[in-house]
Parts: sequence; C-alpha cells; structure tokens
Amino acid sequence: MTDPRDADGSSSELDLSLLDGFSFACRPDCGLCCFSSPRLEGTDEERLRLMVPSLRVIAREGERCIASRPDGGACELLDHLRCRAHNARPAPCREFPLSIHIGTRIQATVVLSCPGLSVSPLLERKGGRSAPSRFDGLETELASARDRLVPVAARLRVEATRRQRKIARELAAQGRWVDDEEVRRKLSHRPLSPGADEYFPDELPSAVEGLEPLPMYFDGRDGPVALAQGGGGWEALELMAEGGSKPLGEAVPPEQPPDLTEDGRALLEGYLRYWLARDCFLAAVHLDMERVPEGTVVETALEELHAIGSDVLARGAVRAQLRGDAGARLDREGVERGIRATDQDWLDRPTWGRRL
Ligand code: SF4
Ligand code: SF4
Repeated sequence: MTDPRDADGSSSELDLSLLDGFSFACRPDCGLCCFSSPRLEGTDEERLRLMVPSLRVIAREGERCIASRPDGGACELLDHLRCRAHNARPAPCREFPLSIHIGTRIQATVVLSCPGLSVSPLLERKGGRSAPSRFDGLETELASARDRLVPVAARLRVEATRRQRKIARELAAQGRWVDDEEVRRKLSHRPLSPGADEYFPDELPSAVEGLEPLPMYFDGRDGPVALAQGGGGWEALELMAEGGSKPLGEAVPPEQPPDLTEDGRALLEGYLRYWLARDCFLAAVHLDMERVPEGTVVETALEELHAIGSDVLARGAVRAQLRGDAGARLDREGVERGIRATDQDWLDRPTWGRRL
C-alpha cells in the first residue's frame, strides 16, 4: 500500500505490530465464520452473480449482504463446509481472520475466535509497535485489505481523528481524559485478570430471541456451537448449516472466578494485554465513557478488561463443564476455549473509529 500523508503530516500506513508471531491456516473442517451474512461492496455482487446467478442478497443496516439460511443457518453459499464461490467471495470473507480498525492510526489485529490461529503468541508478545512484524499465512488477507484501504485510508483516518478529538475535548473538560499511550503505560504493571470483586460475566441472550446474536465457537462438530441463556444456566446448541439447532446440554457459569493453573493465568493475562494494545478497545472505552458520568479512561479501561476476562472465564468454565470437566481448574486449554468463545463478541463493539 502507498503511504499517503494526512493533513497533519502523519501516516495512514497499516500498523501490523499486533500480527506479530501469529500464523494462520484455515481449517477445512471448520466453517465457523460462514455462519453469517457477509457484506458486499464494490464489484463483489457482480463477480458473485457470474458464478451464482441465483444469489440472494438482503439489505441490512443500509448495506447489501449475502443472505444466510433462516434460524441461525449458514451463508447460502456454504456447501458441506466449502464456499461455492471461493474465488469470488466478498471482502469480509477474503480478509477474515484479520480485523482492521481505522482510528488515529490504522491497525490490523486478528480475530482469535478463529481456530486457524494459534493463541501461543499471546504468551510471547512483548508489546510495542516496532516493525517488522513476523506472521505467517495472512498474506492474501492483508493484500485484499490493503487494496481496499488505498483509496479511502487517508480520508477515513482524518474523519476518525476528528471524532476522537471531539471526545477527548469533552472528557478533558470534565478532567477525565488520559491519552491511549498513557492508559497503556499506567496499566502496564497492573494485573488485568478479574479478581472475585471484579468478576461480572455478561448474561447471554436467550435462543428464543434468535440464534444470530449468540456467541459461537468451533468445537470439532459439523456446525458451530452457540451458548444461550437457558432455564437454570446456559445451554449449548449445535447450529445446523440449513438452519435450526440441536441441544447439546446445559451448564452453570461459576459465581466466582474459577481457579486457574499457572499457564492458564499467563494466557489470560497475555490475552488481556493484547486487548489493551488494540486501538479498537480504547476507542470503544471512550464511547462508553460518554454514557458513564464518572471515572477516568484508565479506570474504565480496567473495568472493561475485567469484563472481557470475566466472559473468558465464565465461557471457558462452561465449556469445561460441557466436556465433563466440572470442578477442574482452568488450565491453558480451558482459558483458550474461553477466548475462542469470547473474542468476536467484543471485537464487534462500536468505536469512535471505523472498521474496514
Ligand atoms: S473461522 Fe477460521 S478456521 Fe474456521 S473457516 Fe473461518 S477462517 Fe477458517
Ligand atoms: S461467501 Fe463463501 S466464504 Fe463467505 S460466508 Fe459465504 S460461504 Fe463463507
């Protein structure tokens, strides 16, 4: 990608430092990311119609999207875990598991719900922005994202920077503003995992309200597993590509944070540090602060990291119960299962910036 300079002289270059250490290989037995209605843009629809003339397109929040099958089913183009139009698939499919946030800089991060990515770099990352980043298997995803960024990067970044400055001015007037690098510096030596008083996992929607908003994860089954609020706890449902679901069992999220093995705790801390490094996280925190009348950016960021950690622990513990490991301490694999069932949910939050 070219490196257009913005009006303030800074760069619209894509920051790749959060890809450092990751490698990606799509799993042929997965299909998790195809339980969606991918957005169409540019020439996507035209190219797809050449391959699939019967393509059904729906309008959603002002955008055109490929229709998915009813009742939580997969994208209409998914056929036995294969995309019927792989070579013409739209941008969100070409670029997953990359997620690009356009804020005061343009930053790439990986969606850790995808089981084609290893989580071990979370333990090894030392933070910072230094280039060059080492990553493997994300080159075609990045090439697609760069192509789309070239014509819009500088403009979107200027717009986002303007929105960020407005929020910063409002919060500074209330004495609550702390800039991003200072937030990261102040939290760099604090434990980020929730303690007993900071453990508040989110309640889940009920499946009766629809299967689409439920957190999903890949569990080696034909379809992804979704977690929903059940009668006495959470229920696990296997989603069917054609729509509908099959109940797998129920489990009760723990009332206290589960005990962690040493490597489980290290992975959770590494994961929350990854969140702190994501620009989309602090951009979402700022938006939340506009609705909350008190607290500084540092305090709010820490509370929200505790909330993310709470979801990882609750979902990891429920997945352990569903596997018959009730009562066990959460080890590294247990925490990883919680991360897989959590990451996409929090990445979907609104920010003052834009997602590509
Ligand atoms: S979630 Fe990841 S591994 Fe699964 S199909 Fe999508 S890209 Fe491949
Ligand atoms: S277009 Fe293809 S890759 Fe994209 S969600 Fe549909 S089936 Fe999956």
